[in-house]
Amino acid sequence: MTTSEILTHLGEDREKYFNAIAPPIIQTSNFAFDSLDDFRRGFSDEWGTHLYSRGNNPTVQILRKKVAALEAAEDALVVGSGAGAMNLAILANVKAGDHVICMKNPYSWISKMMTNFLPKFGVEHTFVDATKIENIENAIRPNTTFLMLESPNSLTFEIQDLKACAALAKKHGITTCIDNSYCSPLYQQPIELGIDISCHTATKYLNGHSDVVAGVICGTKKMIRKIVELEYMTFGPTISPNDAAMIIRGMRTLELRLQRTSESALKIAEWLDTHPKVEKVLHPFLPSFSQHKLAKQQMKGCGGLFSVYFKADSKEKMETFVSKLERFLLAVSWGGHESLVLPMVTFYGIPGKEDTTHPWNLVRFYIGLEDAEWLREDIENALLEI
Ligand SMILES: *Cc1c(COP(=O)(O)O)cnc(C)c1O
Repeated sequence: MTTSEILTHLGEDREKYFNAIAPPIIQTSNFAFDSLDDFRRGFSDEWGTHLYSRGNNPTVQILRKKVAALEAAEDALVVGSGAGAMNLAILANVKAGDHVICMKNPYSWISKMMTNFLPKFGVEHTFVDATKIENIENAIRPNTTFLMLESPNSLTFEIQDLKACAALAKKHGITTCIDNSYCSPLYQQPIELGIDISCHTATKYLNGHSDVVAGVICGTKKMIRKIVELEYMTFGPTISPNDAAMIIRGMRTLELRLQRTSESALKIAEWLDTHPKVEKVLHPFLPSFSQHKLAKQQMKGCGGLFSVYFKADSKEKMETFVSKLERFLLAVSWGGHESLVLPMVTFYGIPGKEDTTHPWNLVRFYIGLEDAEWLREDIENALLEI
């Protein structure tokens, strides 16, 4: 099935709702049954029927089908945030006495799960530089049951060899899980490479309009059912049918948006790569990127993120550069229509927090859907200040 068919039609049983083109927002908490027998059948298979919207809501179900198909997964679960998705996938697959291996510097709230949450329940962890498969292999212990990956990560874009990770983990009976948000399901399909669970923040590319927070978990039917029946139904991180409909609407243009943002980002990154005030550009599809070959091998595209180390002699100069940018909004997140800048100099001198370990001349850019030349000019002008 083509991507466009999935985004435009899959999962939409239009004859069931007046042949409406747009999916109905089934804004209900619960569903009534015609007979006691039906009611009993509902309880025997809550995930396979419609009984209560913390479990299975028909609007959310349309979204689940689309995301699963994009990931080439048997099933998908949609939850209230990306952090929630990844942390549910971890919790569902570890128990007291287990050991988890996690790539170093994962998304911050995955880090917190490892360092502050899992220890409360007797689960150990090791962070490894997972750009080298030997480092993962050397960290495996007899009680290692879970490997958490994020490839590329969303600041410096280190990559893990997903096929090799999957093969190594299978040999040791370890469950593998990836945060696949950077690539979206369109540019990387980890499950096809042997990874067990692929998670996304739907807040970024999938919804794509900076107006919904949500997350998804993709895997086998068995894995998704396991997560649903215990962690999901217990913690209840459901999304509203209205948010699901907004994401379905956002996804109609996922292919187009990614194409636009990828092309613009690569163009601007290539220009910056040769700029005299730039020390280094980090973008996996630039030939100067240290893991360029692996990136080309396992990814179909890169999307709109890249980072830059600028040549600046002081923090103040970096601050001036950032304040001169007029066409990039100063904000976290990415994946929407708008271009964003996240300078590491922000994380120096925040009251009550330790300074970041990232250098202050590092800046992450997200290129949105605006005209690439208009954005490039803005960076060019601001660079006159440093
Ligand atoms: C934003 C983000 C998340 C978390 O997603 P939320 O929807 O904000 O919870 C996880 N991983 C990456 C790479 C992200 O950028």
